[in-house]
Amino acid sequence: MKKIKVIGGGLAGPEAALQAAHFGCDVDLYEMRPTRSTEAHQTSDFAELVCSNSLKSESENTAPWLLKQEMRRASCILLAEADASAVPAGHALAVDRVEFSRRVATRIEAEPRITVHREEVTTLDADDPDTITILATGPLTSAALAAELQRLTGSDHLAFYDSISPIVDATTIDMDKVYFAARYDKGTADYINCPFTKEQYDTFLDALITAEAVPPKPWEQIPTNLEARALNIEPVHYFEGCLPIEETARRGRDTLRFGPMKPVGLTDPKTGRWPYAVVQLRQENLRADSYNLVGFQNHLKFGEQARVLRLIPGLENATFLRYGQIHRNTYINAPTLLAEALQLRAHSNIMIAGQLSGVEGYTESIASGLLAGRYAASLAMGVQPVPAPRASANGSLTYYITHAESKRFQPANITFDLLLPLEEELRKKIRGKKERHRIQCDRALLAWDQWLTSVP
Ligand SMILES: Cc1cc2nc3c(=O)[nH]c(=O)nc-3n(C[C@H](O)[C@H](O)[C@H](O)COP(=O)(O)OP(=O)(O)OC[C@H]3O[C@@H](n4cnc5c(N)ncnc54)[C@H](O)[C@@H]3O)c2cc1C
Repeated sequence: MKKIKVIGGGLAGPEAALQAAHFGCDVDLYEMRPTRSTEAHQTSDFAELVCSNSLKSESENTAPWLLKQEMRRASCILLAEADASAVPAGHALAVDRVEFSRRVATRIEAEPRITVHREEVTTLDADDPDTITILATGPLTSAALAAELQRLTGSDHLAFYDSISPIVDATTIDMDKVYFAARYDKGTADYINCPFTKEQYDTFLDALITAEAVPPKPWEQIPTNLEARALNIEPVHYFEGCLPIEETARRGRDTLRFGPMKPVGLTDPKTGRWPYAVVQLRQENLRADSYNLVGFQNHLKFGEQARVLRLIPGLENATFLRYGQIHRNTYINAPTLLAEALQLRAHSNIMIAGQLSGVEGYTESIASGLLAGRYAASLAMGVQPVPAPRASANGSLTYYITHAESKRFQPANITFDLLLPLEEELRKKIRGKKERHRIQCDRALLAWDQWLTSVP
């Protein structure tokens, strides 16, 4: 039987290691703390929750509940320990983080098949036929290992920053001032365009470049660049594609008009001409009740965003459901690189789990570790794993990361938008959102149970 090497002792790594060991495999688990820490971790404990202590909603028929229910049915070890460390938190599962980590450490110590190595891994051997490697080093993967991953996958396929565009509530857009159009009328007119006159553009630009930015947090400073230089590798900057909008605006008064606010080909039906500049709004979800501002990722304080973005014609009274953000987050371009059993397409002995694979959040990372551990055990025994079913929440998350549009790929939490939608007929018949969600959950759990019993 092949050996399993798990790199990363955060959330995905320990779950993967414990699952693989449970199925009879020998596992080497590597964690670099305390020899080397990350910018966010405070301890050398396994399963440290770096920020909040919440594993999200336990309300029946919500998407986070569904994900956890599936994990429980698959005997997820970290979730069982989270349940045992729960503290009162209304409808959410929140844990005593110290107790949670202690319990996970005890489970690892008690597992004779797991050998723990406290060291930083800096190289990956993709050609070793006797080892399955699960890489679960998370959003703050060390610089040396990130460089190794870049070498293995190609430098275009690893992101170091998460850039999130603001999202606006569709019902608060002034539809009299905006218009639907496709550039040069090519394709369907899916985008809402907010047209600017020159005066409006100048006012907006001045407000944007003078707005107050969020002070960088310690883990967002540039230690990666310093580390990178020390290692003689390319320093990490924002990718051009996710540069903060205020940064682009500072490059010249017309830079936005030739970039994300380009008006060419977007004829305004009211004037019959192209406006001076536009902001495009892209539908955010299937229900079309929210839209994101295309290319408007930024690093401004939320209050400043509200003030500046309401200068956009049509958004004067907009309600923002989410503000733009940019923060450090290392993740692969999973739609390009990853197969559904979480193996790198080009190096099938290497699997990626947790936040590094493009899922977002504590629970999602544990879920991904659960799948990776089971798949790795299967591979170690010489059996090609059967991926989790598309209809389940776990399967939907994997489906999203492996099938999303690669150019615009962003990490995601579990939401109903990722789940298999109901058939049109049924959707029309069932009006209430709650009832639709209940049916989706029932279907997901059925598919998940069938998968659990059918997989050897
Ligand atoms: C600052 C911050 C705050 C966050 N807050 C939340 C939140 O409140 N709620 C939420 O749901 N999600 C949050 N997240 C997102 C995410 O869910 C967590 O980061 C989660 O811990 C990811 O799990 P993981 O197992 O993929 O990575 P991690 O839990 O980060 O585990 C990765 C482990 O790998 C180790 N490691 C890294 N490089 C190496 C190497 N070369 N060799 C050996 N070991 C290595 C690290 O030390 C770490 O222990 C946050 C992320 C960050 C960065």
